[in-house]
Amino acid sequence: MRERKRGTVRDLRRENRAAVLWSLYLRQRRSRQDLSTATGLSAASVTNVVRELLDEGIVIETGQADSDGGRPRALLGMNPEYGYVIGVDVGETRTRVELFDLTMTERAKAEYPLDPYKHDVDVVVAQILTGLDAVLGDSGIDHAAVLGVGVGVPGIIEQRPEVLVHGQTYGWDAVPLGRLLRAHTDLPLYFDNGAKTMGQAEMWFGAGRGARNAVVVLIGSGVGASLISGGTTYQGATSSAAELGHIVVVVGGRKCRCGSTGCLEAYAGAEAILERYGRPMAAADQESALAELIDAAGTSALAAAILEETAQFLGAGIASLINLLNPERVILGGWAGLQLGGRLLAEIRESARQHSLRHPFAATSIELGQLGPGAVALGAATLPMESFLNGSLGPAA
Ligand SMILES: [Zn+2]
Repeated sequence: MRERKRGTVRDLRRENRAAVLWSLYLRQRRSRQDLSTATGLSAASVTNVVRELLDEGIVIETGQADSDGGRPRALLGMNPEYGYVIGVDVGETRTRVELFDLTMTERAKAEYPLDPYKHDVDVVVAQILTGLDAVLGDSGIDHAAVLGVGVGVPGIIEQRPEVLVHGQTYGWDAVPLGRLLRAHTDLPLYFDNGAKTMGQAEMWFGAGRGARNAVVVLIGSGVGASLISGGTTYQGATSSAAELGHIVVVVGGRKCRCGSTGCLEAYAGAEAILERYGRPMAAADQESALAELIDAAGTSALAAAILEETAQFLGAGIASLINLLNPERVILGGWAGLQLGGRLLAEIRESARQHSLRHPFAATSIELGQLGPGAVALGAATLPMESFLNGSLGPAA
């Protein structure tokens, strides 16, 4: 159990303030009474904190709710105009940059296709920087009002002593992405693996809400995942936990982009699915090519067989997660995960059932993500938001 340090009055005030802010951020509109119930703070403490947040303009009154017999209660919410966060999704098929207000409403976005297979570091850095200028320009929002930029990247992210990206499948070896961006922008920057940022978005706002133990699976060109254990993301010793794409589903099987053989990604990633179909595609074309394959399954026996086999492999991979981790929910997302899941969810569930132990399978639901393919960028934008809500970040002004 975490030992609670003897806090000063100032620490206590900051904790109370963070509790109220988190509650308003995740649940949007609440009355002071709701906040007291949700946070366990006394009515007087909530009143004090709310007064401070109203004075600072972080929180606003957003309307009134009827209360039983009493006078109407003022509803409070985050002030969307107080500050902004930017989320960047460096995917394998595109770079997406989105700007959100404090209620996580999207205010502007920019997208750039990535081609060819191999990520060129300079291209990605230029796309991110162009995207930051584009969303600030389009929204007319001042640079100084941006609380921070979160960047979701495929691969393993080493945070210290400096941010390094290890993207073994696409040729990034210890790329100092933080330093490369920092040379051109002074906005506060945060980095995490894209599957982990997507996982955070689905857990906070989407299909993961209310779950404490879950796995969020991201399927794009490759396959990644985020493990949520007891409400927090499991990182492992060096932040590489949940590389689901590289669990072996066929010993001695197809060659994987990582150099090994028989990995799940070598069967269920979009790039591998298209190769198995005999239509290898550059990254920029994979999204439409996979959609065409799925459409063709009604008339093409080959397309139908490839999809059936893909569902089998995905189900087997998910069964390994269920047997190892005993999650209450498995969520399928990523652009390819949403396309495949939309068509094959029943088959994937059936394969997972066949390959799982009965008891943990009965405790698990397998669902589609609710936030669409933009979930990685939305989740990346929650990285600076976390710091802001915890009180360690003010507006840049
Ligand atoms: Zn692999």
